[in-house]
Amino acid sequence: MKKTYLTTSIAYTNAPPHIGYALELVQADVSARFKRSLGEDVWFLTGTDEHGLKINQKAKDLNMDTIEFCNKISAKFLDLIKELNISNNDFIRTTDQEKHWPGVIKLWGELVANGDIYEKEYEGQYCVGCEAFIAEKDIVNGLCAIHKKAPEKVKEKNYFFRLSKYSNQLLEYLEKDTIKVIPQSRKNEMISFIKSGLTDVSFSRPKDKVEWGIPVPGDDSQLIYVWADALTNYISAIGYGRNDISSYWPADVHFIGKDISKFHLLIWPAILMSLGLDLPKNIFVHGFITVNGQKMSKSLGNVIDPFELIQKYGVDALRYYFLREITPTEDGDFSYLKFQERYNSDLVSGLGNLIARVNAMAKNINTNGFIADNDIVNIATKVKNQRDKAMESFKFNIALSSIWELISFSDKYIEENKPWEKDAKNKEQVIFNLLFLINNIGELIAPFMPETSAKILNKYDGHLFERIC
Ligand SMILES: [Zn+2]
Repeated sequence: MKKTYLTTSIAYTNAPPHIGYALELVQADVSARFKRSLGEDVWFLTGTDEHGLKINQKAKDLNMDTIEFCNKISAKFLDLIKELNISNNDFIRTTDQEKHWPGVIKLWGELVANGDIYEKEYEGQYCVGCEAFIAEKDIVNGLCAIHKKAPEKVKEKNYFFRLSKYSNQLLEYLEKDTIKVIPQSRKNEMISFIKSGLTDVSFSRPKDKVEWGIPVPGDDSQLIYVWADALTNYISAIGYGRNDISSYWPADVHFIGKDISKFHLLIWPAILMSLGLDLPKNIFVHGFITVNGQKMSKSLGNVIDPFELIQKYGVDALRYYFLREITPTEDGDFSYLKFQERYNSDLVSGLGNLIARVNAMAKNINTNGFIADNDIVNIATKVKNQRDKAMESFKFNIALSSIWELISFSDKYIEENKPWEKDAKNKEQVIFNLLFLINNIGELIAPFMPETSAKILNKYDGHLFERIC
């Protein structure tokens, strides 16, 4: 059986999840469910990134133990995963000392053994918001361009990773699509970034500045910085540092947001090269969600709570909106107006109405012994092929629009054939064809809307419909 390993990025637990985080989960989930439907042996990982200064400070502000705070926020992410009907096989937390830490410690040791870690006195502008040293070009009028706060001038000893050493290899792997980046524009961004010159990156912070993290092996005065900690989750979760990972590694797809593409396209592959591990096959980069055209922010008061939406409209309505309305690799917008429009036109009037009509017509009709007409089977097969092709290239919106063409076709088929005007035998054939169509629509939407799909298919449990899926 083909093994497929999919991951999302791990969510930073300094605040409860918002709707943007739900997008990535749903995109990865629909891919995982689709791959399983093809009979692949899928392992789907998600989790939470729980170290760093911001989390520590937040916990202190709330007068909580840091781990207690992490437990609380991580549990909220798990709640969302459950509410969104995400089919993950595993959930990794970077505070997990049994599962995650051995991988990080092994990784650090390997990087050191390969001569890729060195010590350096470093002086730079540090932004607490970014949790990183920031470049001069990102400082505008003395303030961090993102956080609008003055960075601190910091001089400290750090361990550095020799990212620059891997420049040529990274360039080659990206140019040759050894790591396939979706969309290609993100790859081109990275290629020009590499060509402008890569510098080595800080892989540790002094413990007196950041107290919440994994200690550097052999140097208790330093903690391992996010890159060698968080990114490692993709291998620690499947056993790196504890056992053999070759049955699932390399990952088939990392699903990530555009804000962290640099770390996944440059630092992570360089780490893997140093470890002598294979590179991930695909890196899928999604955009951000705006609300009514504006960036989501607490100060604007436009943060959308995914739990509320699910409670009001059901999980499948939210999954459908994300996958249908938003171009997978671009920024997308959320508004209640657009959400309700999609909900009413596509789900209530489109899918819901068709199912209700066909079910009503099929009452008291004996369809035993019928088989679907050729042209009906052909159009369903054509739509399935279109859906599969779109799914293989992560075009979830195109996949759904193909399925909705089958819904429109079915509506038109009813209008054109008017089963209520036909004699008994022809009427039964038309209705059988319609039952065939809605059963296959039920199968085709399964990865996108698992609950709705099950409702459609369960109704016909025990009936024999040739399904093309
Ligand atoms: Zn900043």
